[in-house]
Amino acid sequence: MSLSLSADQPAVPANADDGVWLECIECGETFAPFDDIRYTCDECDGLLEVRYDELPTFDDFEGRGVWRYADALPFDEGVSIQEGDTPLYEVPRLEDDIGVETLRIKHEGMNPTGSFKDRGMTVGVRVAKELGVGRLACASTGNTSAALAAYGSRGGMETLVLLPAGKVAAGKIAQASLHGARILEVDDNFDTCLDFVQELASRGEAYLLNSLNPFRLEGQKTIGLEILEGFLADYEAVPDRIVLPVGNAGNTSALYKAFRELVQAGELAEADVPKLTGVQADGAAPMVEAIENGADEVRRWDDVETRATAIRIGNPVNAPKALPGIRETDGTAVSVSDEEITAAQRDLAGEGIGVEPASAASVAGLRKLRNAGIVDADERVACLTTGHLLKDPDAAAAAGGDPEPVPGDFDGVLETLSDDA
Ligand SMILES: *Cc1c(COP(=O)(O)O)cnc(C)c1O
Ligand SMILES: [Zn+2]
Repeated sequence: MSLSLSADQPAVPANADDGVWLECIECGETFAPFDDIRYTCDECDGLLEVRYDELPTFDDFEGRGVWRYADALPFDEGVSIQEGDTPLYEVPRLEDDIGVETLRIKHEGMNPTGSFKDRGMTVGVRVAKELGVGRLACASTGNTSAALAAYGSRGGMETLVLLPAGKVAAGKIAQASLHGARILEVDDNFDTCLDFVQELASRGEAYLLNSLNPFRLEGQKTIGLEILEGFLADYEAVPDRIVLPVGNAGNTSALYKAFRELVQAGELAEADVPKLTGVQADGAAPMVEAIENGADEVRRWDDVETRATAIRIGNPVNAPKALPGIRETDGTAVSVSDEEITAAQRDLAGEGIGVEPASAASVAGLRKLRNAGIVDADERVACLTTGHLLKDPDAAAAAGGDPEPVPGDFDGVLETLSDDA
């Protein structure tokens, strides 16, 4: 099986271009990477992965940000706004409170547009230029549209985004709008938006930059590489576990691919690969259902609901890549309630880290798994927080305290303050 941790480095097919090609994860068919536009396998419709004849070692990485990892990517440089190189915060109080040996927060909200989607777009938009396409498009719960709009405008390209009407946080629409995307608000959920944009892409109307696009996941591998390098520098060991929110499961797939490539390159022992642990919201948990049932496929949920709008997804398109990732790394998946998500958002805020609701799901999930004894007290854990607090100002305001009105005179201010005492 090509997605096994112990898979050998594949033979280089004749249609590779500069040692890079696309390979179907289901039937193994290979394709030249930049001759034609395709998102899935011509033969069986399976998901595609980017493959390389040469895999880098840690010594090959130099510089900062996503392009530090150019040797693990299809190009040496991309359409860049200095993405990546995000903080790996220590959170001593939260670490203590949850009760694990080490807890670090990889805050992807510190990327240029405030989410990890930038890492995928810097590569994806570079590929779009290589292919010479006109219009770029995506369906989005918000952050993908913000990143596409910013990277598209940086690259001087036209962008189109399809959003579920009324279900996208204010900050994200504002970004897509100011960066010049054409925004269509669809009167249905995210999964329908993705169906539509896939149909547009197949008719040649636009180049698809959802995480179905295998090149986006190449950029997102760098989250895993940064976490590993950070832990190796601080603890001389990689983390035992990485906990992350799951929507379309692109990150889960990308991190797993980063680890597989390190194992193949002899840089990481199979036994040391961090346990990939996915977290969904109770109201949108098809991946959790599949993991719990030991199923090979995910059942599409038609009705999904959660305050964590970034992961309000019922049909995770990357499930065929992510399910083996969770299983082969001995990880797990868990769902959490909206109340648990908001509590975790407050916990992180109490350490000075501002995240949007979907991001807090990782910490909420870790707490739940620790309480259940599934995560051990001696584990070293990294939690991924995927987006910035300011993405969803309404959720932040609702989770925080209310401002107190005071009269416009100093005595009134003093009086209000002394009322607490
Ligand atoms: C896109 C997104 C997710 C979901 O990531 P997947 O890779 O699709 O699983 C989670 N959180 C935030 C903030 C996002 O923008
Ligand atoms: Zn195939």
